[in-house]
Amino acid sequence: MTLWLLGTQLDRTAASLDEHDRVLLIEASGFADRRPYHPHKLTLVFAAMRQFRDDVRARGLTVDYRQADTFAAALDAHFDAHPGDHLTMPRPAAHGAESRLRALVDARGGTLSFVRNPTFLLTPAEFDEWAESRNTNDPDTYRMEGFYHWMRRETGVLMDGDEPAGGEWNYDEENRETPPEDWSPPEPPSFEPDATTREVASWVDAAFETFVDSDQAAPFRWPVTRDQALSALETFVDGRFAEFGPYQDAMVEGEWAMSHSLLSAAINLGLLTPMEVIDRAERAYEAGEVPINSVEGFVRQLLGWREFMRHVYRRSMPEMADANQLDQTAELPPAYWTGETDMACLSEAVGHVREHGYAHHIERLMVLSNFAMVYGADPGKLNEWFHQGFVDAFHWVTTPNVVGMGSFGTDALSSKPYAASGSYINRMSDYCSSCPYAVSRDTGEGACPFNSLYWTFLRENEETLRGTGRMGLMYSHVDDKDAAEWDALEERAATVRTLARQGKL
Ligand code: FAD
Ligand code: SF4
Repeated sequence: MTLWLLGTQLDRTAASLDEHDRVLLIEASGFADRRPYHPHKLTLVFAAMRQFRDDVRARGLTVDYRQADTFAAALDAHFDAHPGDHLTMPRPAAHGAESRLRALVDARGGTLSFVRNPTFLLTPAEFDEWAESRNTNDPDTYRMEGFYHWMRRETGVLMDGDEPAGGEWNYDEENRETPPEDWSPPEPPSFEPDATTREVASWVDAAFETFVDSDQAAPFRWPVTRDQALSALETFVDGRFAEFGPYQDAMVEGEWAMSHSLLSAAINLGLLTPMEVIDRAERAYEAGEVPINSVEGFVRQLLGWREFMRHVYRRSMPEMADANQLDQTAELPPAYWTGETDMACLSEAVGHVREHGYAHHIERLMVLSNFAMVYGADPGKLNEWFHQGFVDAFHWVTTPNVVGMGSFGTDALSSKPYAASGSYINRMSDYCSSCPYAVSRDTGEGACPFNSLYWTFLRENEETLRGTGRMGLMYSHVDDKDAAEWDALEERAATVRTLARQGKL
């Protein structure tokens, strides 16, 4: 009897570790030959697996750590050593993984069963029970907000009896502040790589073509062990949590982390369970260390968004991966790889990805996805870019976030696109003041590229978007523009597209 854990299932607290003869970990590196991933992502995944191996062995348990190109090759070796073995695995999140893995095991004369995956709060059956009590075709009932209220009630998190703690379900109104000019957040935690992690980083450098060369990236700093992940959680709670809420949507030049937790990669790898992070957040609130708007905003991300994304993805695949309701087909502009653009906002956000394999939520949604969407990029190509560039990116989480939310490839996750002009970025950041483009102008040389792209995007997609939820105000502005304004907007948008394609924007 073997417990087979994937590299995204490194849950050291799993009681079932002790209930098996051995733990099987397969370090299958062939995937990294096929695409140029960020070197921090590869180092993080492989180092976390090797650290987990050493940690579990130190507890006296047997770990078979198999390095191979593919799962198939490693399973050949496993079943040579343990013919007819029965394997158990926490239910994987990637679409089709269960059947693929089971077929590999069956073909080698073994058996594979799946158990609850502790890196998510709900089993598929539990989510489906909620979903089936809703009309899944009715956007008002099959939405994250309703699910989140249900989760609060089910789990009792941030509840005062039947009422939400503090009296409101949602404190978004208080969470759209921009910090004062002299503000800077405490330095985010940095974990000095030990010998194991250094060895992985050198191997990654030598063996793979990567998203950026490692000397163009910042020094590797991500937590790769459970102890480091717990320490990252404590550092967040002590130093940045209180300001997480108010500055959740803000962007400040030179501040890649703001007051975000930076915990997504640790949670997605299983180093922290979502419920222990939620519990810690709730305790900080109960101890009076963080205000309700910060704790509620944070809890909503994990109890609501993360879980909702995982299950909507599961229920919407395989269609979601190729969804493209706006029929957008452009390649991503080269600036997404080089970071070379005069647009201060895009240069900053791509720079964060190149340096850290990370950008915070609003950069992901309102800069990187927003620009790609109004520019006309293919959602699948944007999804692929996110998948390669981010340390926390796995198919179950990028596909709904990028194709659904960021590109409006499907309306499964939001009733309208997250499209905005430069004025949104100007309101939420200090980027525009140092940008050579003029955010106040829509047309002509030097006008903010976001503006003409935004208006022409709305016009080009009018048939799909005009009738969708909450687009009325935007289309009233579209209707106010006369023919001469549209000519100038079209001309500027065409120039912006050409310059972007040529890497000269
Ligand atoms: P915080 O802002 O501190 O939030 C706390 C936690 O909530 C995160 O650690 C994460 O676990 C969870 N969370 C918040 N929002 C989401 C969400 N929409 N979906 C899933 N979990 C969420 N998240 C990933 O984990 N991996 C991705 O590859 C990823 N790609 C994204 C792409 C786009 C276009 C968008 C709009 C969002 C994406 N997200 C992704 C969601 C979110 O942006 C990140 O989880 C968050 O920015 C990670 O930083 P943090 O840990 O500092 O998060
Ligand atoms: Fe971005 Fe436009 Fe502002 Fe420049 S002016 S930072 S391109 S929104």
